[in-house]
Amino acid sequence: MSGGWDAVVVGARVAGAATALLLARSGHRVLLIDRAAFPSDTASTLYIHQPGVAKLAEWGVLPALLDSGCPALDTIGYEVGGVRLAGPAPVMPGAPAAFAPRRRVLDQLLVDAAVKAGVEFADRANLQELVHSDGRVTGVRFRTASGVRTEHARLVVGADGMRSRVARLVDAPVESGDPRASCVYYTGWTGLSTGFGFHESPGNWIVRIPTHDDLTLISTYFPQDRFTEIRQDPFRHHLAAVRATAPGLYQQLTEAEQVEPIIGTGDQQNYFRRGHGPGWVLVGDAGHHLDTISARGITNALLQAAFLAEELTVDPADPVRLDAALARFTRRRDEALTEPYQSTLELARLTVTPARLRMLREIAESPALTGRYFAVVAGMLGIDELFDDEDLDDDELFDDDGPDDDDVC
Ligand SMILES: Cc1cc2nc3c(=O)[nH]c(=O)nc-3n(C[C@H](O)[C@H](O)[C@H](O)COP(=O)(O)OP(=O)(O)OC[C@H]3O[C@@H](n4cnc5c(N)ncnc54)[C@H](O)[C@@H]3O)c2cc1C
Repeated sequence: MSGGWDAVVVGARVAGAATALLLARSGHRVLLIDRAAFPSDTASTLYIHQPGVAKLAEWGVLPALLDSGCPALDTIGYEVGGVRLAGPAPVMPGAPAAFAPRRRVLDQLLVDAAVKAGVEFADRANLQELVHSDGRVTGVRFRTASGVRTEHARLVVGADGMRSRVARLVDAPVESGDPRASCVYYTGWTGLSTGFGFHESPGNWIVRIPTHDDLTLISTYFPQDRFTEIRQDPFRHHLAAVRATAPGLYQQLTEAEQVEPIIGTGDQQNYFRRGHGPGWVLVGDAGHHLDTISARGITNALLQAAFLAEELTVDPADPVRLDAALARFTRRRDEALTEPYQSTLELARLTVTPARLRMLREIAESPALTGRYFAVVAGMLGIDELFDDEDLDDDELFDDDGPDDDDVC
């Protein structure tokens, strides 16, 4: 493009495609590149919390997701130490439930919406280096099947994931971080009707997540210090964990069919990187990553895309205003995502303290409190609001007249 792009976005999944979509809708000229061939899957247990679903609804992407046959996850069950919480999933405007779409479906829907909004999209386009001028990032150089291409831009958005090359090329330091706490393995099964939910015991966290094609993903989390042992024979450890922590689910697995191989990772990084600099910004996992146990990465990526687009109302040709907008984005990111980061770290330690069990026991006795607890888990309420009945009209959190666990599997 002559004169260059307003923004080149590197990485075209939830963070990058959503950012490109929103920037194009605000009138920016955007190039979106990804080294993968789309439609494309990636390792993930796919769960999107209600605030992320609400963003998809606001952007007009949710109807196509519903049309794709993605099941609504409208109930939740949680079992730990003899306590059972069960009830309907909370709702919020635009989000009738949570969803766990296949990434080749979700990411492609976002790319399609971005292209429809005017974004130029190139897949199989692998970022090699950044172009600099006068101390600013001013473009990208990437490799395609037909050779190396250079494009100039006022802003380069690194949405290229946890091992971000953009972050490496700009030397974005980790400004706060914590050691890895857990590791995870998951498989996909057909013939299960478990609904969405989790099971916990000391050292184990198990999640069941229905997705497209009548498939249910079962994921098992273990302490990080067991990773070397678990990776020797992950399927055996996966099944043993389900058997010990969720015996009812284990029984169902003996009659179901495992249709996807077991995959997993011990590389559960926890960090906030510097979010921006002259002519560059990091969105999604590139800038902030947290243990996947709380399934917040997709939702966080969508929220960050919205924050960035809301701040980038300035003319990107004005570097002072552009950099100020990027600084506001990073501040919003840190303000919004620090509390969920801390609670995720807590969960990822996989300890079941007597104090937490006491609290959960109290919550389990009240359907209203159970509903609020699930709203806290979804990121719709702060933990400090859980027992605070003055601040909240519970009708806003539930579909009908209040929580009712009749439908829970
Ligand atoms: C086992 C596992 C389970 C998970 N489960 C959940 C869950 O249930 N819910 C949830 O919310 N999150 C989950 N996550 C996390 C979630 O998948 C990520 O947080 C999310 O995908 C981040 O999106 P992103 O767009 O920032 O980055 P990514 O999804 O990592 O996408 C980055 C993109 O950048 C591209 N790219 C990288 N380098 C280059 C380059 N040099 N040139 C061009 N393109 C490049 C890649 O091809 C990729 O498409 C899970 C993760 C794992 C590993």
